[in-house]
Amino acid sequence: MQPKDTTTNEAFKGFTNTACPFLPCHTGVRGAFNCLFCYCPLIAYECPGPYTVFTDRNGLRRKDCSACTLPHNGYRGAWTFIQKWLERPVVWDGREQTRRYRKKPLRTKPPRT
Ligand code: SF4
Repeated sequence: MQPKDTTTNEAFKGFTNTACPFLPCHTGVRGAFNCLFCYCPLIAYECPGPYTVFTDRNGLRRKDCSACTLPHNGYRGAWTFIQKWLERPVVWDGREQTRRYRKKPLRTKPPRT
């Protein structure tokens, strides 16, 4: 088995669990639906995702990531995104998202005239 940084096989970067009863758990995903990061590794860290913040019954501030598709957008895309943000992880301090999240519009065909 080759280490993942020397192999040309990118199968480790994602998969789609077509047997999951919740698929698709998020709408608006681009490319193949990547289930590898079903539990996002960035949940405890700063991230650029469009999360909102709520306080749970124990008084802890938590992210609600319902609107985020970043860990699911394609095999290579989601893998690259997660690796980039885990390079220098910064622990999330419970604050609201302040980064401006821009969701690219889905490509649609122009209407025929
Ligand atoms: S907002 Fe997106 S990237 Fe950030 S922790 Fe939630 S699922 Fe992960």
